[in-house]
Amino acid sequence: MTYKIEIDQDLCISSGKCVSDEPRVFAFDDDELATVIDTGHSLDDARLIRLARNCPGQAINLRNESGELVDLD
Ligand code: SF4
Repeated sequence: MTYKIEIDQDLCISSGKCVSDEPRVFAFDDDELATVIDTGHSLDDARLIRLARNCPGQAINLRNESGELVDLD
């Protein structure tokens, strides 16, 4: 199972952490806010949770196969 990534661009502070850690999956858009460029990535759920937890803006959300938000605490 792979969680679906969502980025709340209202919370993204353009730190570049996700883009630096996984440049195949995240990139900056024209406004220098993070966006997901590869929704068919092969990152496992544990890696996705770490990426979300490491976002300094808490802008990365994950959803499970039922569409529910994954608790990152
Ligand atoms: S780690 Fe978070 S705050 Fe930094 S660029 Fe990515 S989404 Fe934005």
